[in-house]
Amino acid sequence: MITLLDGFRIVDATSNFIGHVVVENGVIIDVIGLDESLEDKKPLFSKYLMSATQIIRGRGDLYLMPGFIDMHAHFRYPGFSEKETLESASLAAARGGWTTVVCMANTNPVIDTIELAADIKCRSDALRLIDLYPVLSLTKGMMGKELSEIALLKNQKAGYMPLLLSEDGKDIADDEVFLSALRCAAELDIPVSCHCDLQNEAAAIQRAINLGLKAGCPLHIAHVSTKESVDIIEKTKWEHREFALTAEVTPHHLLLTNDDALRLGENTFGKVAPPLSSKKDRSALLDALDDDTIDVIATDHAPHTQADKEGGAPGFSGLETAFPVLWDTLIDNDEFTEQSLSHYLSAAPARILGLDDRGLIRKGMRADIVVLDPEKKTTIKFADFYSRGKNSPFLERDYNGKILFTMANGRIVENGW
Ligand SMILES: [Zn+2]
Repeated sequence: MITLLDGFRIVDATSNFIGHVVVENGVIIDVIGLDESLEDKKPLFSKYLMSATQIIRGRGDLYLMPGFIDMHAHFRYPGFSEKETLESASLAAARGGWTTVVCMANTNPVIDTIELAADIKCRSDALRLIDLYPVLSLTKGMMGKELSEIALLKNQKAGYMPLLLSEDGKDIADDEVFLSALRCAAELDIPVSCHCDLQNEAAAIQRAINLGLKAGCPLHIAHVSTKESVDIIEKTKWEHREFALTAEVTPHHLLLTNDDALRLGENTFGKVAPPLSSKKDRSALLDALDDDTIDVIATDHAPHTQADKEGGAPGFSGLETAFPVLWDTLIDNDEFTEQSLSHYLSAAPARILGLDDRGLIRKGMRADIVVLDPEKKTTIKFADFYSRGKNSPFLERDYNGKILFTMANGRIVENGW
């Protein structure tokens, strides 16, 4: 079955042109520029037109981008179905344009065995929505004492292999335990995502970097929120070019400040870890994306019930809101281009996670595609969330840009056209 996406503005990290995308069996089998289809590729284009079972027309003004890849989300499965389920989170991801998601291990039980991670992957695959990769925690039960099954991964010939390892919001206090976990990761060549938010963020990042350098493992710093942290990452990237150090920022840290936390309730609906920072920090984060000190934008989707938020649980639901708020604020204010946004949301995370079959619109890549209308608006409303956690700092506002549909592995998984 051939799907022809006919006449779209095709934007990814390295290109921006009007053309057609041909999808068959979950794969992009051809990408044809508009000028090409008029000349040498005309017979081929006519063949696709004749054989397509589905033709979707972009009128030359709708955007077609690679599906987004989220390196940091909390799906709350297993154990916290009042906050989120695999299905509600996957639907939220699909609506938000996220076709590949890495979910964190702070669940109940903690994802500390290969069997549990594989079971979650399998259940998620059965939903046929997005491509989900659960992380494995570094230690058993995230207790910071004994290593989880990460030590067994290197002997695994087949079966589930995580793309990222992480102890989530818990730092391992014992240097020796932390170091042995990082050495395991080095052997596997799997990045470790460090959240560094228990104590002073900059100090925790510096410690993770020191141990990461010792172990020689790829290290990924989650949700960077201050200028001080940016400075440490920038300095390390300059001084240790061989060290695979990467970093992420969330849409809320990029777009909001502590004034917003006060407005929303510092200890309730505006509470997030790490907390929203100052204007100075916010502009340092924007500059850090621009000069590649920070590599990717990730949601840190952290759904909670309203009661949990009232009780001070930190986090925002971000999967459904990330794209419209970024598009509206950053593209419309000329902070960066459509192409660079695609780099932060798709190409860069694909590279860090070692997913060479996605992240760009290219022949041979997985057909993970987001189609959007830059002229339409998205209204973020409490009642509309697919996620069970409906707490967002971006509620009740219109944002320029609307995702019309999301295609994952060649299937339309969410259609809001
Ligand atoms: Zn998190």
